[in-house]
Amino acid sequence: AASADAETDVVVIGGGPAGLATGYHLTREQADYVILDGQGAPGGFWDRAWSNYWDSLRLISPAEHSSLPGWRMPGEPGQELPSARHVADYLAAYERRYGLPVRRPVTVTGVRRADGALEVVGSTGTWRARHVVSATGTWRRPYTPDHPGRHLFEGRQLHTADYRGPEEFAGRRVTVVGGGNSAAQLLADLSEVAHTTWVARRPVRFMPDDVDGRVLFDADTQRALGGRTGRGAASPGDIVMVPSVRRARDRGVLTALPMFERLTRTGVAWADGSERETDAVLWCTGFRPVLDHLAPLEPFDADGRIPLDGNRSVREPRLHLIGYGDWTGAASDTLVGAGRTAGAAVARIVEDLRTG
Ligand code: FAD
Repeated sequence: AASADAETDVVVIGGGPAGLATGYHLTREQADYVILDGQGAPGGFWDRAWSNYWDSLRLISPAEHSSLPGWRMPGEPGQELPSARHVADYLAAYERRYGLPVRRPVTVTGVRRADGALEVVGSTGTWRARHVVSATGTWRRPYTPDHPGRHLFEGRQLHTADYRGPEEFAGRRVTVVGGGNSAAQLLADLSEVAHTTWVARRPVRFMPDDVDGRVLFDADTQRALGGRTGRGAASPGDIVMVPSVRRARDRGVLTALPMFERLTRTGVAWADGSERETDAVLWCTGFRPVLDHLAPLEPFDADGRIPLDGNRSVREPRLHLIGYGDWTGAASDTLVGAGRTAGAAVARIVEDLRTG
């Protein structure tokens, strides 16, 4: 189905971990399908050729807890937490191992209804399908809040997605905004060479040192942890004490101030009148789902959300969403969570194909 105007049962949009996990299950069910991926090489966010992340990026849980269905991620020799490049290699090998039918690079610009089917318009052709799975991730839509004074500030502003390493900030003053794992890891990285200030909107929650990121994805471990810490289950926003973050704590830089009220020309200012000068503001404020290509199907409600029944769109039952966050399945925006969700979504699609 590589040529334009092909017909198939299922088109999966996006060839990152969520798309591959969906493919794994579709192959097992012997469905006729294709995966269209905008990237030039395997891996989605982890794409090695694209290298769109900083050098020190590692998973927050060991390899065997970061696997897609069917085949466990091998460990990386000498490393407890795999590097991003190791993840990319695993995803490329996973694709080959199962012979997943990925076409790339194909960017999907729109999905529309046509003669009782869905039509997926891609940069190299058009596919007709009975079902469409959207698994386009969030990485392409970095989110920065429109904070007061943002356009006044004369220093540098950048987002997690722009960060490539600490070198260019050596000796500078950097304010890191955000209370999640990205903020903590980039703060740890930067604080080795720069003067850092950390601010977060809510009090930051740290996981115990001996517990790694797998609890964020594992309901059983979560319950056990809740019992131990007496504060309920861990949430994906909780900070995992990876080695670099522990070292930052030991250096005394891992303390977050409350969020500033506004940016000034030369720094940031709090409501109580205090101010701090800064050369750069690094917004570790997250990502939003990439959903523009679905607009022609009008799946959104008045609040701009896509109402779902499981993973299936309520307004367009032939459309399924995977990998965008908890609203598309528990921890579905992680490697393990995406795999789990994909299995459930494919079961429903296959049932429909058989009866429909
Ligand atoms: P992606 O990996 O983003 O893949 C989406 C794919 O869809 C891409 O290939 C993209 O090119 C393609 N695409 C997008 N739009 C289109 C279009 N219109 N047409 C065609 N193709 C399109 N997860 C973990 O499990 N453990 C971790 O430790 C971890 N650390 C992380 C650290 C950071 C800094 C970030 C940002 C994320 C981290 N994640 C981690 C989560 C990460 O998002 C997931 O591991 C995983 O990459 C999500 O898979 P996905 O397939 O949903 O999205």
